[in-house]
Amino acid sequence: MSTPLLSATYFDGLQARAQPVSLQVADGALHITGDGIARRVALPHVRWPERTRHGVRITHLADGGELHCADSAAWDAWSQHSGLGEPLVVRLQQSWRGVLGSALALVVLLLALHAWGLPLAARAALQLLPLSVDTSLGDATLQAVDEHLMQPSQLPRAEQARVQAAFSQAMTQAAAHLPLGSVPDWQLVFRASRIGPNALALPGGTIIMTDELVYLVERDTDALTAVLAHELGHVQHRYGVRMLVQVTLLGTVGSLVLGDFSSLLAGTSALLGQAHYSREAEHAADVSAVQLLQAANIDPAAMVTLFDKLAALRAAKDADAKAAPDNWLGIAFASHPTDAERVQFFQRAGRSNGGL
Ligand SMILES: [Zn+2]
Repeated sequence: MSTPLLSATYFDGLQARAQPVSLQVADGALHITGDGIARRVALPHVRWPERTRHGVRITHLADGGELHCADSAAWDAWSQHSGLGEPLVVRLQQSWRGVLGSALALVVLLLALHAWGLPLAARAALQLLPLSVDTSLGDATLQAVDEHLMQPSQLPRAEQARVQAAFSQAMTQAAAHLPLGSVPDWQLVFRASRIGPNALALPGGTIIMTDELVYLVERDTDALTAVLAHELGHVQHRYGVRMLVQVTLLGTVGSLVLGDFSSLLAGTSALLGQAHYSREAEHAADVSAVQLLQAANIDPAAMVTLFDKLAALRAAKDADAKAAPDNWLGIAFASHPTDAERVQFFQRAGRSNGGL
């Protein structure tokens, strides 16, 4: 059975050029065809647009590419006939039964909160929250970050593309060797920032890497891939959302479950500033990173490069005691406890992998 075609506009994520293409879903993949374009993108690497009544439907591809379709009616018909489901939040909103179920979930949640306290109730809430919540949170957080904290990247496009391609290739290889779902959807963006060499994962899979980090490791793509793998570990464990849930559970859980994020989002940027990943969360992300790197045939000891460079940078900063550490963004990589334990963990993983 052949699935229908749809006309759309393709942006490759590297150039601003709009290219007319036709889309088709077949064999578990999205096929993008146009003049000089023949791409096959596995469906897990496609982030479909939320259904809104009007406006351009924008689909995000894991490599930073985008597909735009201005004809929302044509998009919906195509999407439906291609067997693509609606995101859960949208289905919930559109269904009375869903709303009733959500209300029920809310009651269960409040009972859990009463019985077991916050951390366990937060864990329960996390399981009720569809991944599209992570995406919405991540988008809003990126917007806040761009407004208040970071500037557009000064890194040359070619340099960005090189880091992007290395990570993309590594994660494709990792996905081929690991169980399904081991490699969450991700999107890499670069920013210039006063928080220095840093990387952070936003809920939903957007990973921000600062220009300063790229320069710190002297563009060593294995070291950068190792950092990104660690951030992807955070995405996989949904720690960002877990913390948000934990902190804002009482006030916002009703609106969260029903898909209205406004009250939660108001606190997002403030929370990001205060949040520190726990040791446990760091270790879990490190374990994921080693797994991803080994599956991608990259020596996990590449991460040690980063720890070494950060230690050297810190020593230089300490020498100038007046230079106050500017990495108040607790979620960020440079503020992680760079203790000997973590370095050893990556070194050991490197040797067990038959490393360098
Ligand atoms: Zn981390």
